[in-house]
Amino acid sequence: TKVLVTGANGFIAAWVVRDLLEHGYSVRGTVRSVEKGQYLKNYFANYASKFEVIVVEDITKEGAFDEAIKGVEAIAHMASPISVNRVRVEDVIEPATKGTTGLLQSALRHGRSIKRIVYTSSAAAIRPEAREFPTFTVFSEEDWNFRAIEILREQGDQTSSATTYHASKTLTEQSAWKFVKDREHEISWDLTSLNPPLTLGPVINDVTDSSSLRTSMRWFYDNVVDPIKSAEVGSNSLVGTGNSWVDVRDVAKAHRLALEKEEAGNERIIISRPWTARQTFIDAANALDPAPNLARPLPKGDPGSSSPAPYEYDTSKSRRILGLEYRSVMETTRDTLLDFAARG
Ligand code: NDP
Repeated sequence: TKVLVTGANGFIAAWVVRDLLEHGYSVRGTVRSVEKGQYLKNYFANYASKFEVIVVEDITKEGAFDEAIKGVEAIAHMASPISVNRVRVEDVIEPATKGTTGLLQSALRHGRSIKRIVYTSSAAAIRPEAREFPTFTVFSEEDWNFRAIEILREQGDQTSSATTYHASKTLTEQSAWKFVKDREHEISWDLTSLNPPLTLGPVINDVTDSSSLRTSMRWFYDNVVDPIKSAEVGSNSLVGTGNSWVDVRDVAKAHRLALEKEEAGNERIIISRPWTARQTFIDAANALDPAPNLARPLPKGDPGSSSPAPYEYDTSKSRRILGLEYRSVMETTRDTLLDFAARG
């Protein structure tokens, strides 16, 4: 089976590609430039006959994926802006929404062989920001973060970059489901959305040092590894006292399982560990034996202290439909720090 993976050089996508190749699939990855493709070709050199790269420079262009899609039987779609640095609103919303509906349009026109498309949505399309729900709430696949779209409509260009991103994921997932519903009699494939929260774990895509870590691993680095940033974060509480999270290797596996399990069709599926306090990660990092050989000492925080979870996700569907088992705080922390240590 050949799978198209869009945005193949991303943090999550590189693991999706690796998991697919390790399980006998052929993979065609889309990237925005030849150089980004070259890194992947080198990394997956052992799979030269099963891995190919195709450059799709601008995913918002009409028919951008027409070529990429030919002959594949499944798609895992991950190309999307996730930067939470301040950027123009349309630079986030347009590639996310147009890139996705454009891909589905290409699949409609040229995707006779396609059976399933997995869209990597986000828990951000499920749950609004914490200030929007003052009491403890359990969120499930029934929930939608419409609040982010409302805020975007109210605040326009002034919308925070985080809310803009959340709105982009909600709008995009909504338009993907609408596309499928409107054309259910014309398409040969079905759709699954996966909704992971903050995704953590070892980095295998092209990230040379901690300064170029992307968004979710930036969170881990600043909160758990860097004593200075961690102290700052602790005091201004910008990201709160913890997060719901999931290991990137479990997210990758979930993509493969979502392609393999018939019952995953037409489902949105939350992929998440329980909410975890920042301090729990810090304690796990400090408990590692042997201690990882990092460039500077780990922050200690306030050992053993904990914070109440402000919300949880109901993840029963991921276990029921995908049979997914999740890695622990300890395992993810250990492997991530070993990876950082190896980079120096
Ligand atoms: P990365 O930033 O590591 O990768 C994003 C990928 O999307 C890269 O290939 C990037 O290409 C591509 N991309 C970014 N902007 C554009 C654009 N304007 N046009 C075309 N391609 C673009 O992100 P992650 O691996 O973390 O995220 C992958 C997917 O998973 C995204 O859809 C994200 O929303 C979703 N997700 C991520 C979570 C996380 O915590 N990391 C949690 C939940 C969902 P390039 O390298 O050329 O910029």
